Amino acid sequence: MPDRRPFEQLPDNVQPINYGLCLKPNLIDFTFEGKLEAPIEVKNAPNQIVMNCADIDIITASYAPDRDEEYHATGFNYENEDENILQTGHGLLKIDFVGELSDKMKSFYHSKYTTASGEVQYAAVTQFEDTGARRAFPCSSDPSIKATFDVTLVVPKDRVALSNMNIIAMNPYPDDESLVEVKFARTPVMSTYLVVFVVGEHDFGNTFSRWDFNPCIDFITIADFAARAMENWALVTYWETALLFDPKDSCSSSCQWGALVVGHELAHQWFGNLFVFVDYTHAQELDALDNSHPIEVNVRHPSEVDEIFDAISHSKESFMIRMLHNYISDKDFLKVMNQYLTKFQENNASTEDLWESLEQASGKPIAAVMSTWTKQMAFPLIYVDSEQNEDFRVLKLPHLGEDCPQCMVPINICTCKSLSSSKHTILMDKPETTMVLEGMRPDHWVKINPGTVGEPVTWHKMPLLAACG
Ligand SMILES: [Zn+2]
Repeated sequence: MPDRRPFEQLPDNVQPINYGLCLKPNLIDFTFEGKLEAPIEVKNAPNQIVMNCADIDIITASYAPDRDEEYHATGFNYENEDENILQTGHGLLKIDFVGELSDKMKSFYHSKYTTASGEVQYAAVTQFEDTGARRAFPCSSDPSIKATFDVTLVVPKDRVALSNMNIIAMNPYPDDESLVEVKFARTPVMSTYLVVFVVGEHDFGNTFSRWDFNPCIDFITIADFAARAMENWALVTYWETALLFDPKDSCSSSCQWGALVVGHELAHQWFGNLFVFVDYTHAQELDALDNSHPIEVNVRHPSEVDEIFDAISHSKESFMIRMLHNYISDKDFLKVMNQYLTKFQENNASTEDLWESLEQASGKPIAAVMSTWTKQMAFPLIYVDSEQNEDFRVLKLPHLGEDCPQCMVPINICTCKSLSSSKHTILMDKPETTMVLEGMRPDHWVKINPGTVGEPVTWHKMPLLAACG
């Protein structure tokens, strides 16, 4: 395995405010030409502008500070890099570059498909999560560094060009009358991994639906796609099997799976797109392995981001959210999420920010409970032992085994006398928790964790199960 170059985060003294991007993909030789015009803010007078850029060739680069003359660069380095040449303030960065539309199903690439008449055709599409944008244009691909984007695509007249926003102008391309220049409206402030370009044929129209949603959201299927879907801002791309469904021939599990994927990508329009967590932050089988990982992981290198977005991040998190929702109550959970999204929209938030908001609204120790889940791997095994006395029952709930993580578990208990599970809610915050249920006869049943909320596995001792029957 080749040595991995140590990762250095970009210096934060140059901040792009807007990316004016013009891209001209060539679907015959699978290359693209690009022009970037980015107003940037310069802080602390650095002597160079450092951006993320991979597998693209810079042709020219220049920087013009406001009210000053333009500087021309060779490659990435300014000719007189030893001097402090960049004044603090604002300026315009211009870069011309060329790149390749690869067949790797990531970054800006070409996808092959066959038309109804059997003709092989190609589309140019993107998949930027997590750091792929740097292979399409020089940028800051750190998700916490956000900007607006003005995208222009120069495409053959017989192709459809799509990007995050709606088209605001279509002009003839001056150098070639077979091409058209398609300009899109300015995006909201967002991370670079949410930018999307699609250039394809009009019969793509059969495979995506359009509906109005904040202000609109488009779905499109891509023939060659490495993920199941990607939540690009307002233009979600899907692998064909995740979106296309034939009521006659498809099985109901693929319909369920499609609904799950669509719901997931729509949820991302708020969670991830509207704001991003600054600490990036087959579930139980995977989580039981020695090489599992906790939900919260510090990322040291961009390639590690792919490694942590697995079933632990996606499936275990959903267990956690359901447990949290149940612990806090539906009313408080919805109220807090609303306030939280409004407070952090277009911004970056940390896990602690969310716990703090939920703690304030509920008065419950959310940060303490949740950190025992998100900072540890594996899941707790809880053993349930019960002892019947005259007219009450004692439940003992110890965590099982030495390797078992000592999580704080909010748990509900219902009995045949209290079908509403909220009657008995306890927070298991010790290695063993005891609970007394009054007025219970020997033939009364008890159910721990009704609705199977959250992830703990509970082992009932036989007498309790017998009572359930
Ligand atoms: Zn996701």
